[in-house]
Amino acid sequence: MIPLAKPEMGDEEIALVAETVRSGWITQGPRVAEFEAAFAARVGARHAVATSNCTTALHLSLLVAGVGPGDEVIVTPHSFIASANAIVHCGACPVFADIIPETLNMDPRLAAAAITPRTKAIMAVHQVGRPAELAELAALAGARRIALIEDAACAIGSRYRQEPIGSNGYSPLVCFSFHPRKIVSTGDGGMITTGNESWAQRLRLLRQHGMSVNDRQRHQSRTVVAEAYPILGYNYRLTDVQAAIGLAQLRRLDGMVARRREIAARYDAALAGHPRIVLFVEPADSRWNHQTYLIRLAGVDSTQRDGFMQGLLDEGIASRRGIMSIHREACYEERFGPQSFPRSEAASDQCVCLPLYTQMTDVDIEAVIAAVRRQADRL
Ligand SMILES: *Cc1c(COP(=O)(O)O)cnc(C)c1O
Repeated sequence: MIPLAKPEMGDEEIALVAETVRSGWITQGPRVAEFEAAFAARVGARHAVATSNCTTALHLSLLVAGVGPGDEVIVTPHSFIASANAIVHCGACPVFADIIPETLNMDPRLAAAAITPRTKAIMAVHQVGRPAELAELAALAGARRIALIEDAACAIGSRYRQEPIGSNGYSPLVCFSFHPRKIVSTGDGGMITTGNESWAQRLRLLRQHGMSVNDRQRHQSRTVVAEAYPILGYNYRLTDVQAAIGLAQLRRLDGMVARRREIAARYDAALAGHPRIVLFVEPADSRWNHQTYLIRLAGVDSTQRDGFMQGLLDEGIASRRGIMSIHREACYEERFGPQSFPRSEAASDQCVCLPLYTQMTDVDIEAVIAAVRRQADRL
């Protein structure tokens, strides 16, 4: 059985976790600070603020950008539901703009058309790690003097033109996920990068109950310290145990991305030209980390796509449906009424994610290729 994904963890992660547990400092403390500094250095950001996951990172980013009840935020409907949920959790309304079918990312022209006087922010999602149209979206946000926020849950190790995703070259707030389906994993975990010092401070307050003094400062103080709670906060902390895993994972990042790109290139070469298979190509000026390898089955409906996936499973190969269309889920339909985004819906119905993980052997890769071709021939 070939699974869809498998995190790459080893002795370095185990050693750092053991050291952290023995240190007696288990939750947000020195390891989290070390992980934040290493992460900021890795992506070229001024500040990095760790959170419990990417959904909470997005929630806090929207809050510091001033998003609240009655506001609208433009986002793609073609994403994991958490992108839009974070907007709803602020009391704001997600306004969906459909995708460019060839990239699966939001079409900047449709984003421009969706702007209203209530628009408070634009959320760019780098779907499956493939960089979104940042220059166009940043220009749009800049002209309106609203914030561009990046949902970079999948995009660690990707690059937009010359900028690593997370460097804040195009947007002031970039959010990452460390869920095991992403490339760098801490079990669960998230990170926000920002170039704005006062936002970084506010994010640190918000993630820890709005508490004015953090545990590290109190621990190190030689005088009695009383904390205050100037703003209403949340408990969105990452733990030091998770940060220890993250530090070891960051050291693996270059190797993991290189291996993923190598496997993706082999899939591309072997599947190109099949009449039923449409490939997603890397933009010429950017770098895609291949967090997920997707194909599109030309001209099929979702029933045929499901049959294709069952065929793969019968051959011992796991796959997943493509990216969801958020507006079709009951919790969105009930709140915001029925909506239609035909490009997103067609892509959701026709795309399939194939196995991709660094430990795949040549035999695994060839088995996936042969099964995919066989099942596609039957369509
Ligand atoms: C995984 C994912 C999220 C959610 O990340 P968590 O860390 O699980 O909260 C948000 N947006 C996108 C695009 C994702 O792929």
